[in-house]
Amino acid sequence: MHELSIVKDIFSTLEEHYEAKVEDIQKIQVTAGLLSNVQPVLIQNAFDAFIADNLIYRDMELEVVVNDIIAHCHSCDKDFKVEYHRFVCECGTPSTDIVQGNELYISKVIFKQSL
Ligand SMILES: [Zn+2]
Repeated sequence: MHELSIVKDIFSTLEEHYEAKVEDIQKIQVTAGLLSNVQPVLIQNAFDAFIADNLIYRDMELEVVVNDIIAHCHSCDKDFKVEYHRFVCECGTPSTDIVQGNELYISKVIFKQSL
């Protein structure tokens, strides 16, 4: 399952970066571009399955933010939003020069508040 390997990658990155403090993470936010081939529902399911198997992460939450596709028009030298997979600027010039939409990254990590 594609999404499960993404979730495992996310946890490897967190463990590398935060080491033992990973256990103190309350919530992570992952940003996925519409072109990154990540289904928010599937990644949420994979995340839930992963934390169910890894008790130290059991209370962690995940939020998936989806980014629009933005392409650059070289005629107008402007960025435009791609809707319905129509890679055409409002001036009529087609462009597949993607500036946003392929990304998949951890955009936020929130730690538990110590009481
Ligand atoms: Zn244009």
